[in-house]
Amino acid sequence: MEEPSASTPEPTPPTNNPVFCSFCGKNAKQVAGIVSAPGVCICTECIVQCCDDLSAYMGVPPAELYPRMKHAQEERRKEYLRAMVRDFDRQAGGPVAVGPPR
Ligand SMILES: [Zn+2]
Repeated sequence: MEEPSASTPEPTPPTNNPVFCSFCGKNAKQVAGIVSAPGVCICTECIVQCCDDLSAYMGVPPAELYPRMKHAQEERRKEYLRAMVRDFDRQAGGPVAVGPPR
């Protein structure tokens, strides 16, 4: 006699999950690459857009952005990123220019 077995949900293999950018909605075939983290993905196009926006927000040329961010104090770095996230939250539909602090 068979015992009623508790059905355990089978995990979906990651390779079958289509990966979409959380910001613009494009899939991995539409862009050069996608960076994923738990619960969020970002495509190469949105990374470039974010760098441009962050560069404008910080008032530094894009080429100086990485060195500046790398050497910025952690709190300052978090402040920049929080400002960007606030702006993303305010505007629906993807990356937007944040402009200088008001
Ligand atoms: Zn994207």
